[in-house]
Amino acid sequence: MRGAVLYGPRDIRFVERANPAIIEPTDVIIRISATCVCGSDLWPYRGIEPINEPRPMGHEYCGIVEEVGSAVRNIKPGQFVVGSFFASDNTCAICQAGYQSRCVHKEPIGAGGAQAPLLRVPLADGTLVATSHPTT
Ligand SMILES: [Zn+2]
Repeated sequence: MRGAVLYGPRDIRFVERANPAIIEPTDVIIRISATCVCGSDLWPYRGIEPINEPRPMGHEYCGIVEEVGSAVRNIKPGQFVVGSFFASDNTCAICQAGYQSRCVHKEPIGAGGAQAPLLRVPLADGTLVATSHPTT
């Protein structure tokens, strides 16, 4: 697949990247329907936040579930889902207090880069919200 990657200040390239795959049994793969640029993407884009290596872009996203890991219970293939910029388990004490972005098991979605056709979402049951949007 091709996806957006930041190589340095004001240097974004749309390059060939490996398709994401299920790594952990709590992962899902979604096909991105829409993604966008977040204000926090602009810090490294402007060179204010240095980057040391090319970085996939994008952590704001929604899409349709294509594949689910063996331990995913609530997210199903074909659902239209919206996710957060941090994957979270939604079960730890911090999540239960309403601060999922500080989950003890949080993982940054930006590492996978949502500005691409496919995205791996860790901790899918805690991270994604399925909507009633019809997908067929
Ligand atoms: Zn948590």
